[in-house]
Amino acid sequence: MTRRNLQGLACKADKSATTTLHPQGAGRGCKADKSATTTLRAAIVGAGIAGAHCAGQLATAGWHVEVFDKARGAGGRLSTRRLGHGWATLGSPFISAQRDPFRSVLRDWARKGWLEPVRGDVLQGRATVSWAQAQMQNHYRPTIEPSQLVRQLLGDAHLHSQARVAAIQPRAIVLEDGRMFDDYDCVICSIPAPQAVPLLAELPLLFERLAEVRYRPIWSFLMRWDGGPAANVIKFDDELLNVAVRQTSAGPGLWAVHSTHEFAEGYLGVSTEEASTRAASALLGLLGLPWPVDVEAAHLWRYALPENPVGGYWLSDRESRVALIGDGIAGAGVERAWESGLRLAQALVQSSEELAA
Ligand SMILES: Cc1cc2nc3c(=O)[nH]c(=O)nc-3n(C[C@H](O)[C@H](O)[C@H](O)COP(=O)(O)OP(=O)(O)OC[C@H]3O[C@@H](n4cnc5c(N)ncnc54)[C@H](O)[C@@H]3O)c2cc1C
Repeated sequence: MTRRNLQGLACKADKSATTTLHPQGAGRGCKADKSATTTLRAAIVGAGIAGAHCAGQLATAGWHVEVFDKARGAGGRLSTRRLGHGWATLGSPFISAQRDPFRSVLRDWARKGWLEPVRGDVLQGRATVSWAQAQMQNHYRPTIEPSQLVRQLLGDAHLHSQARVAAIQPRAIVLEDGRMFDDYDCVICSIPAPQAVPLLAELPLLFERLAEVRYRPIWSFLMRWDGGPAANVIKFDDELLNVAVRQTSAGPGLWAVHSTHEFAEGYLGVSTEEASTRAASALLGLLGLPWPVDVEAAHLWRYALPENPVGGYWLSDRESRVALIGDGIAGAGVERAWESGLRLAQALVQSSEELAA
């Protein structure tokens, strides 16, 4: 199915004649008075924090924005797992900011009760050696589901969930079920580089730059145990496990435990049961627990953190009207991903007249 139809073509032709951007609010370009206004249209692949933030910023500037994500909702590596009446996160446990503008945003989210700073209750070490108090400067933990933090960034953008994109073409995307959405003024790809590369076969310039970017994996587990050291965050001095973060919303004793990259690389091809058993046994030794821990969920993040991001905030092929954002471009972490979405949106809004011509 294609959305290029007579109405769409008429709308496109009008752009070169007279173009005035809507200062606020969304709305479709092909309205009755087409000669007076043209609303720019963007498709964004990926509703993680980079794509959602870019989408919301463009929508606020008056663009019509459609976001496509293969998952059931927004969030990406900040998504949430529902457990009974509560939730837990297997993705990024922390959101941190080194500088403005994200630092001010996090303070605002903390004032709204969406985040709380990580303070004091952080231990580092292992039971067989010793535990020491550790600091985590400028780190926050979500107190609401992190996926909600991402969803609110979308603003007036329209999210197509469970919509896996199979190919990106100049001004167009194709879903895996064959449906094509086209006639966009800009298509933005905001997914981890190794997942983006197969979609970019028709865009050799972007394909080549992204093909070099490698990511490192992490196995994440939700584990429940009694006892152990009194803390909310435990940073392990260990080759297998990296950190455990207490989850407060889904009953007592629940923790998210993240492996090291080395552990995940060694257990890439194994079953969830095998990885869980190995991680649980490592954890017992690290915590000095005499009884087994329950593993309630496990997830392998094949593309957890980029090892050699492209650099800058975004990458674009102006001729084909396709741009790339996310941590594979801007660098590891939530802050860089958020900022890449912001910077691209600002650049697009500044170029609106050129894009509409
Ligand atoms: C276990 C773990 C721990 C981490 N810890 C930290 C930390 O402590 N601090 C920190 O700052 N960062 C941390 N990170 C990294 C941080 O989560 C990411 O850098 C950031 O969330 C990336 O955001 P993004 O928008 O670039 O990508 P993502 O969040 O990955 O969003 C990409 C979206 O694209 C969608 N998608 C993929 N392929 C397709 C397709 N073909 N079609 C449609 N949709 C598609 C996905 O479903 C996803 O929603 C951690 C990550 C992991 C996995």
